[in-house]
Amino acid sequence: MEKLARKQVQALTPYLSARRIGGSGDVWLNANESPFNNQYQIEASRLNRYSECQPEALINAYASYAGVTPSQVLTSRGADEGIELLIRAFCEPGEDAILYCPPTYGMYSISAETIGVERKLVPLTPQWQLDLDSIAQNLDNVKLVFVCSPNNPTGNLIKREDIVSLLEMTKDRAIVVMDEAYIDFCPEASTVDLLSEYPNLAILRTLSKAFALAGLRCGFTLANEELINVLLKVIAPYPVPIPVSDIAVQALSASGLARAAKQVTNITQSRTKLEQALAALPGVEVFPGYGNYLLVKFPDGDALFKAAWDAGIILRNSPIQDCVRISVGDETECSKTIEFITQQFTTVA
Ligand SMILES: *Cc1c(COP(=O)(O)O)cnc(C)c1O
Repeated sequence: MEKLARKQVQALTPYLSARRIGGSGDVWLNANESPFNNQYQIEASRLNRYSECQPEALINAYASYAGVTPSQVLTSRGADEGIELLIRAFCEPGEDAILYCPPTYGMYSISAETIGVERKLVPLTPQWQLDLDSIAQNLDNVKLVFVCSPNNPTGNLIKREDIVSLLEMTKDRAIVVMDEAYIDFCPEASTVDLLSEYPNLAILRTLSKAFALAGLRCGFTLANEELINVLLKVIAPYPVPIPVSDIAVQALSASGLARAAKQVTNITQSRTKLEQALAALPGVEVFPGYGNYLLVKFPDGDALFKAAWDAGIILRNSPIQDCVRISVGDETECSKTIEFITQQFTTVA
C-alpha cells in the first residue's frame, strides 16, 4: 500500500512527537505540557447534531481574552491545524514556499512537506534572533514566514523591532505568522496590537500550554477578517467537536482565566527555581526562557538525557549541541529533576 501513497508522502518521516517517542517514567517533562490536571463538566447531549463550524461562544470568549474582535478569530484543532490551514490556503504546491528560522518548532516543515510546498530555511543568528538580511534575500516565492516567540526549543523572545521590520519587508508579498503558543506566560510580548496596522500578520495561539488543555486540541488563529475568511474556505466543515468547545468555553470563563493566571504564576516560580539550581552546577548553562520550559546546555547533553531517561525522568533532547529542553512541571517534578541532575554532577566530580 505504501507504493500507492503520493511520492511526497512516501518520503515523509512522521513528526516524532513526545507521545510517539515512548519511554517510561513518572516525571514527564518532554512535551511542554502543564502539570495541572484541571477538572471540567462535560454535558453529553445535543450530540446527534453537527457542531457549529466556528462555535460562537468559543470565538467570542477567545476574542475577549485576546483583545480582538470575533471576526479576527478562527478556531481549529490545536495551533497545529492553524499551521496546516495557512499553508493549504496560501501556498500553491510546487510553486510557493514557506520560510522559517531553525532551530524552531518542527511542524512548519512537516506540514509544508506533506502538502508539497517548498521550504526555505534561514537559521536564527547565534543570539537566536531573526537574520533579517538573509530573510530579505530569500523571499522569492515565499508566501508565509513563520516566527516562533517565545521560540521552541530555545525559549527566547524574538525582538519586537525585528518583527516590525519583517512585517514591513513582507508587506503586500507574504504573511508573517507569529507562533505565540507560549505567549500566555509573557503576555506583554504579544504582537496582537500589531494586527490593526499589518494586514499581513497572522498569530497562532493554543489552549495546550498555559491553559493545561493539550489533550483537548483547541487552538486559534488571529488575523484580520479578510485573512480569516480565506482560512474558513479550507477548514473542515465541523472541525470543533461540541465537548471540545464546551470545555474551552469553561477554560475561558472568568474563573477559568483566574485559575490559568494562578497556574502561570506557579509555573513561572518553579521555572526560576529550576533555572537557579541548574545554573549553579559546574559547566551548565541555562538559557533565559519565557515559556514553560528551559533550554539547558550540559557538558554532555546526550549522556544527561539518557541518564535521566533511565531514571524515569523524561526530558526532550534538542538539535542544539549538548542542549536538553526541560518542561517546567509541578513542584515535586521540579524538585526530583533538580535533585537527579545535581546528583549526576556530584558523582561525576
Ligand atoms: C505546542 C506547540 C504548538 C502546537 O499547539 P497545539 O495547539 O497543541 O497544536 C504550536 N507551536 C509551538 C511552538 C508549540 O510549542
